[in-house]
Amino acid sequence: MAPTHEVENQAPPLVGYDVYGADAALVEGVERHGASWANERLLSLGRLAGTEESQEWGRLANVHPPELHTIDRYGNRADEVEFHPAWHSLMEVAVSNGLHASSWVESSPNSFRPGAQVARAAAFSVWSQVEGGHGCPISMTHAAVPALRVDPKLADEWIPRLTSYTYDPGLRPPQDKAGCLAGMGMTEKQGGSDVRTNTTRAVPQPDGTYRLTGHKWFTSAPMCDMFLVLAQAPGGLTCFVLPRVLPDGTRNTFRIQRLKDKLGNRSNASSEPEFDETVAWRLGDEGRGVRTIIEMVMMTRLDCVIGTTSLLRACVSQATHHARHRQAFGGYLVDKPLMRHVLADLAIESEAATALMVRLAAATDNAGDEKEAAFRRLGLAVGKYWVCKRGPAAAAEALECLGGNGYVEDFPMARIYREAPLNSVWEGSGNVNALDVLRALAREPQAVEAFLDEAGAAVGADARLDKAVADVKRELSDTSEVEVRARRLVERMALVLQGSLLVRYAPPAVSDAFCASRLGGDWGYAFGTLPPGVDSRSIVERATPKVG
Ligand SMILES: Cc1cc2nc3c(=O)[nH]c(=O)nc-3n(C[C@H](O)[C@H](O)[C@H](O)COP(=O)(O)OP(=O)(O)OC[C@H]3O[C@@H](n4cnc5c(N)ncnc54)[C@H](O)[C@@H]3O)c2cc1C
Repeated sequence: MAPTHEVENQAPPLVGYDVYGADAALVEGVERHGASWANERLLSLGRLAGTEESQEWGRLANVHPPELHTIDRYGNRADEVEFHPAWHSLMEVAVSNGLHASSWVESSPNSFRPGAQVARAAAFSVWSQVEGGHGCPISMTHAAVPALRVDPKLADEWIPRLTSYTYDPGLRPPQDKAGCLAGMGMTEKQGGSDVRTNTTRAVPQPDGTYRLTGHKWFTSAPMCDMFLVLAQAPGGLTCFVLPRVLPDGTRNTFRIQRLKDKLGNRSNASSEPEFDETVAWRLGDEGRGVRTIIEMVMMTRLDCVIGTTSLLRACVSQATHHARHRQAFGGYLVDKPLMRHVLADLAIESEAATALMVRLAAATDNAGDEKEAAFRRLGLAVGKYWVCKRGPAAAAEALECLGGNGYVEDFPMARIYREAPLNSVWEGSGNVNALDVLRALAREPQAVEAFLDEAGAAVGADARLDKAVADVKRELSDTSEVEVRARRLVERMALVLQGSLLVRYAPPAVSDAFCASRLGGDWGYAFGTLPPGVDSRSIVERATPKVG
């Protein structure tokens, strides 16, 4: 058949580049926080993330979502989930690169390595740009470790399995596996944020174990080897270790009723399991369930910040790459002043998130220091709220930069857009996080002090930042109608924190545009409304991935 036309003026696919090396803000952040020792492996992971093959795994794992098999062909309960090979390829890379464990392997309570959390955050953010869904079990496995430390026996048993760099899928006795993964079961039908309404019962047994009966409404990655689960014991809400296969090789009762049909995150399986006399081991004291699992939640909240930072970076990469290659009205889109303002605005959002992400990871590294721990307490709740809130708006705008192609499933933006709201929903939805900030403000004066010290560390460098910090200080001391003001307050806290970091560490073009728009108020409601004077050309140039 004779061709009717040549295909022209389409941007080439964004492949064949180093996702890490191309991200100047991230490379500089890694160096700033003493983690450049990980550069070689980050560059190698970045190159892998930029390959066509990796990108194709991301696509395939989402167009072939997991399948639940409740019953086997003989009529026995199976409760297994089957994944496309692409999912396993993504998991293999994630686990073999230690994205679920490197911070604990590199740095432990006995042997501290500066920057271990920062290096892991950078790696997780680079590889999540390939695909977001498989980050869920990776993140939960990473996060389970500090919670497990509350019980030395369970920690000795499980931490070596969870920190192995071997991906060994399949339900088999944990002691026979080369590596295990962990999930988490808190949310029930009648309440997610309000976990104290959990109705799953836990009955103590003479051998020291418990039997759990009840349901969970969301339990992601049900093929994990073990779960940290909340249930009501005689002494109140308690945390448990619940394995899918018992040490004697028999299956623990874990009836998967169905998998959720989700907006995005389609590669990942999110299940509704029922427990029926399911065997579990108590982790921490009875009645201390929230206190115990909060260690895990703190880590998954950091991963929500990392996940959305990764998503924002993917948005900027796709949008700037497209604009650099696509022509309209006689010139490249990137040279059109209005489009450049949109791209620059997105790039600033991404860079602000990156600076905050590495700072929060560094605070996690240094949580042995009282002041850093205090900063982390407030900074994490503020960061989780704000960075995750920016995801959907930025994804919509980046999608539009690709025009009609952005709306089509063949291109990555549609999937990125569907993934964008999730990090704000789970691990503490927006309001719940904002209220958590209020709790810290009311009860932890040292956290407020550490936060204000960090926000004020650039004092004198930019008048707009100075004024914004002074305004936040004033707002913090106003306790009237504080619950209704929570979102406004947290948003402003996040902006002064990001402003302080950018003024100290980002190129002047970036920090100037951030301060003018986000702090100085010279900004509209949509992305692309930066004031005329900003140096959008150099901001966009810095953010554009260099391919080839
Ligand atoms: C894809 C996906 C996977 C998930 N995986 C897991 C998992 O593996 N394990 C697990 O345990 N959970 C999981 N979840 C559940 C998730 O953590 C909860 O959905 C989330 O915490 C919110 O709980 P909820 O759905 O019960 O909503 P609710 O708690 O009912 O909240 C509804 C809304 O009300 C707001 N709200 C709540 N309290 C207040 C208040 N006091 N004041 C003002 N506003 C308030 C919330 O911010 C939210 O916007 C998953 C969710 C999704 C979408």
